[in-house]
Amino acid sequence: MGYKYVKGVKENPKFGKLLAVNFNPYKVCSFNCVYCGIGPTTEKICERKLFYPPEDVFREIRDYIEKHGEPDYAWLTGLGEPTLYSGFKQLSKMIKGVYPNIKIGVYSNGSLFFREDVRDDFSLCDLMLINLNSVCPIEFSKICRHHKEVNLEELIGGIKLFRQQFGGIFGIVSVFLGGINDNQKNLNGLKRLLLEIEPDFYELKNYACRGYKALDGEFKKTTKEIFNNLPFEVIYQF
Ligand code: SF4
Repeated sequence: MGYKYVKGVKENPKFGKLLAVNFNPYKVCSFNCVYCGIGPTTEKICERKLFYPPEDVFREIRDYIEKHGEPDYAWLTGLGEPTLYSGFKQLSKMIKGVYPNIKIGVYSNGSLFFREDVRDDFSLCDLMLINLNSVCPIEFSKICRHHKEVNLEELIGGIKLFRQQFGGIFGIVSVFLGGINDNQKNLNGLKRLLLEIEPDFYELKNYACRGYKALDGEFKKTTKEIFNNLPFEVIYQF
C-alpha cells in the first residue's frame, strides 16, 4: 500500500521512534520561514481547515502500525503548520483510543495558540515543541515571513497560556541566523521569556545556508554565558 499521509519512522536520539504523519496539503502554513526544509509556502493562511478526513489519515496510521509495529510517538507535525488542521483533535483521539501506549508529538510555529480551541485541541499531546526565534517583531518577521494576521505579542501570549494548561513535555526551539537574530538583546529577551514560560528544555540551532552567515564564535560564547545555569535543559545544536 502506498501511503498518502504516513511518511515513515525517524529515529530521534531523545524521544525514540517517531512516526511522521502529514495532514496538510503542500504547502499550507501561516509562516514562510526562510529556512523551511519543506519548501516555499504556497498558501499562507491563519484559518483552520479540515484538509483531509481524520478517518482517512488514521486508516493509514493503523495499516502502517499493523505492518511495522508501534512507534514511541505519532509525530503529528504535517508538512506545514499542524494547528491549521481542524481535524487534529479527532485524529489524536483515534490514535490514543486504539494505541494508548503511543505518545503524540508536535512541532508548531505557535502562531495559533492564542486561540482557545487550538489550546484545547493540542492539550492531549505528550510532547510539544514550539519554535520561537526572536522576541523582536522585526527580526521575527524577517525570518518567519508570517501571515499579516500573525502578531508576535499575541503569539507569545498564546504560548504562555498553553504552557499553563499543558501537562506533557514542553520545549522551545530557536533558530539563529547570522546578521538577523544573533544579538545579545534577543538572547536576553528570550531568556526572560523562557524563565517565565519554564519549558522542560530549550534548543538552539543555527541556519547557515542560502547566503545566511554562520554564527560567529563570540555569539556562541555569549549564548552559553547567558543561558548558563537555567532551571531547565539547554541544548546547543551548534
Ligand atoms: S513554520 Fe515550519 S512549516 Fe511553516 S514555513 Fe516555517 S519551517 Fe516551514
